[in-house]
Amino acid sequence: MKTLNTDALIVVDVQNDFCPGGALGVADGDAVVPLINRILPKFKHTVFSRDWHPPDHCSFSASPKFTDKSWPVHCVRDTSGAALHPDLHVPDGAIQIRKATAQEKEVYSAFEDTGLGETLRSLGVKRVFIAGLATDYCVKHTAKDALQSGFEARVLADACRGISAESVAGALLEMETAGAVICGTEELE
Ligand SMILES: [Zn+2]
Repeated sequence: MKTLNTDALIVVDVQNDFCPGGALGVADGDAVVPLINRILPKFKHTVFSRDWHPPDHCSFSASPKFTDKSWPVHCVRDTSGAALHPDLHVPDGAIQIRKATAQEKEVYSAFEDTGLGETLRSLGVKRVFIAGLATDYCVKHTAKDALQSGFEARVLADACRGISAESVAGALLEMETAGAVICGTEELE
């Protein structure tokens, strides 16, 4: 498949804290980096989102349960944990999104409160390809919001990693049911 000028790649939260060794590391999370780097040049429009929390963000807990969406302290703005993985290529002109920046509100989607939908529309984007971390949280919500915002959405499953195999399977099904196409980076070769 050839990409079009009306396509964008959204790279969700490939940050140190979501990679192995990070505060909220996803198993094998850094494995998405070479895959994303390889397909980046195929896109005219690229978006990089970051979880970007204040130090007292409402999702943080000293005894996080995870399943209730309480998490250890992670991706505090301007810390190395919140930085993008050092091997990830970020092209000149990439759109940078910082999300969940307010203390009192949790946000998983790169579209929520960020103006990303309007930005992409103003560039003529019609279809988004989504990769990154974590499949079962921020990737899922980003894909569903992309569809809600009127974009076609393709999820590059091999370039995503999630918290658990079970919830990843559920998330893929949920995205597909919402109208996303689940595919892989090999389709872009
Ligand atoms: Zn977060």
